[in-house]
Amino acid sequence: MATPSTRENPEHRRHSAAAPDFDAVVVGAGFAGLYMLHRLREIGLRVRVFERGGGVGGTWYWNRYPGARCDTDSVEYSYQFSEALQQEWRWTERFATQPEILRYLEHVAERFDLRRDIRFRTTVTEARFDEGAGCWRIATDDGARLSATYCIMATGCLSAVNRPAFNGLDRFAGEWHHTGDWPHEGVSFAGKRVGIVGTGSSAIQSIPLIAAEARHLTVFQRQANYTIPARNAPLDAAKYADIRARYGELRQEAKQTPNGCWWPVNPAAADEMSPLEQRRELEARWEKGGLRMYNVFKDVLVNDKANDIAAAFIREKIRELVHDPQVAAQLSPHSFIGCKRICLDTDYYETFNRPNVTLVDISDAPIEEITQSGLRTGGTEHALDTIVFAIGFDAMTGPLLSIDIRGRGGRTLKAKWADGPRSYLGLAMEGFPNLFTITGPSSPSVLTNMVPAIEQHVEWIAACIDHARACGRPCIEASRAAEDAWIAHHDEVAAGTLFPGCNSWYVGANVAGKPRKVTPYTGGFPAYIEKCEAVVAHGYEGFTLTAA
Ligand code: NAP
Repeated sequence: MATPSTRENPEHRRHSAAAPDFDAVVVGAGFAGLYMLHRLREIGLRVRVFERGGGVGGTWYWNRYPGARCDTDSVEYSYQFSEALQQEWRWTERFATQPEILRYLEHVAERFDLRRDIRFRTTVTEARFDEGAGCWRIATDDGARLSATYCIMATGCLSAVNRPAFNGLDRFAGEWHHTGDWPHEGVSFAGKRVGIVGTGSSAIQSIPLIAAEARHLTVFQRQANYTIPARNAPLDAAKYADIRARYGELRQEAKQTPNGCWWPVNPAAADEMSPLEQRRELEARWEKGGLRMYNVFKDVLVNDKANDIAAAFIREKIRELVHDPQVAAQLSPHSFIGCKRICLDTDYYETFNRPNVTLVDISDAPIEEITQSGLRTGGTEHALDTIVFAIGFDAMTGPLLSIDIRGRGGRTLKAKWADGPRSYLGLAMEGFPNLFTITGPSSPSVLTNMVPAIEQHVEWIAACIDHARACGRPCIEASRAAEDAWIAHHDEVAAGTLFPGCNSWYVGANVAGKPRKVTPYTGGFPAYIEKCEAVVAHGYEGFTLTAA
C-alpha cells in the first residue's frame, strides 16, 4: 500500500478546534504498549501507537547483545490477560533468550492484530496539553502532528541508553557498541582484543560469551556486583504441563508476594534463624538459582545485619569460584546485596579463570579517555579493537524526559521533576490531565516482575478511561494533595529500606546531575495493588473528573 503524501495524511496537518484525531495515543510498542492498545480497542477507543523501533518488543527489540536473556522465569515473564495465549505459547527454557521473547511479542502482535495501529520507526518528540481543546497535541520526528484525548506513555523503564560520553571516543579507530542498542546483524569478536566497560546485568550476561570468542577480553569494572548462578535449563515438560494446568491459581499466588513472583518468600527474619538454618536457606537459594536471593530472609532488604549475612555468603562463593585471590577480592562487592539489582549469570566468575580475560579495577582510576587504538585508565593505555559499553540506562525518568511533555499552562515535565519525579501512584500527575504513565516512577515497576506490573497498570488505566467517558466527565487529573500524600508515603517506605545507601540506577546515581531519589515504590506489589483498588472503590479518590 502506498504511503499517503504529507498533504493527504491527516497526521501531517496541524489541528484546530475540531474533535481530536484519536481517542488515545500510546507511546511505545513493548509489553506495555501492545497490551494497552489491545485493552483500549476492547473499550472502543480509536488508538494510534508510535514506536521508535522498526518492530514491536521495546527492550527486547533493542537489547540484542550476546547472552541477552530475561532474569525472571519465562513462565512468569509473560502475559496472563489471555488464557488462550498462555496455553498455546510454549517457552523452551527456564530463562528465555532475547530472540525467544521477541518472537513471543511478535506472536502477540499478530494474534491480536495489533500492527495495523502502530506506526514504527517514529519517535514522539512532543506531547502538549491543549487546555482550550482539552486534548493532547503530539509531534513526531517525521513531522506528524496529531491530537488525542488521552496520551499514554508506555515508554519503558530501561529504554533510554546511557550514551558513552568519554573523551576521544570519536577518534577510536576500532568499532564500539552499547549493549542497549546492539546491531541487528550481530558483532564478530573472533581474533579481536575486546574491552567491556561496566559490570551490571548486561555485562555479566555477555562477558562469558565474548570471552569465549575474542582473542582477549579486558573487563573495566567500577563497582563489583552481586551475581547468582541462573541455573538456566530447558523447561521440564511435566512441570510445565502442571504449571499450565494451574496457571490462573499460580498467577494469583504471585500477586501476593512483594515482587509479584512465585519465589518462595522466607517468613523468618535472619535473627529468628540459627546460623545453620541461615546457611541451609542461602545454599538452597544459590543452588536453585534465579533471583530468589531477594527473599532469603524476610528482612534482607531492610536490615543491614541480615543483609551482611547474605552478602558474606556470596563473597565466600566468589572466593571458591575464582582461582586468583586478588581477582576474587576485586570481584567481591562491598555494597548491600539487593539495593543494586542482583544479576544472574552463567559462568561469570569462572570466566575470570580464563587466560584470555583480564579484570581492570577502575574504582580509583576512572577512564581518562578513549584513544585511537584503545582506552586509557590510571595512566595505562589498553590496546583494543572493539569496545563494548555495558553502561546501562537513564532509568525510569529518562524515557519520559526525552520527550518534551507540557501540561497545563505549558508547564514542562522537566520543571515539575526538577527535584526528582513526582506522581500519583506512578500512574498520573497533577497538572497533566489525561496523561498516564505505565509503570511510571513511584510505582513498583522494576522491583516486581515487570509483565504483571504492566498488566495491572494497563487494566487500571483502561478502566479509569472507560469510567471517565461513561460518566460524561472524560477529563481526569490527579490532585496535588493526592500526589503529595503518595510521594510522602513512597519516600517514607523507601527510607526504611537499604536502597538509599547504594549508588544504583534505582536512585539515579549512574547519571551525572540526576536528582538522587529512590524511584520505584518499595512497599511491595500487594500493598500497591490494594491502594490502586481502594482509589477506584472510593470513586477515583485523589482524581478530579470534569466534563471538559
Ligand atoms: P547497569 O546495571 O546500570 O550497569 C552499568 C555498568 O556500567 C555498571 O557496572 C556501572 O558501574 C558501569 N558504568 C556506568 N558508567 C560508567 C562509566 N562512566 N565508567 C565506568 N563504568 C561505568 O546497566 P545494565 O547492565 O545494562 O543493566 C541495567 C538493568 O537492566 C539491570 O539492572 C536489569 O534491571 C535490566 N537488565 C536485565 C537483564 C535481565 O533480565 N537479565 C539483563 C540486562 C539488563 P557502577 O556500578 O559503578 O555505576
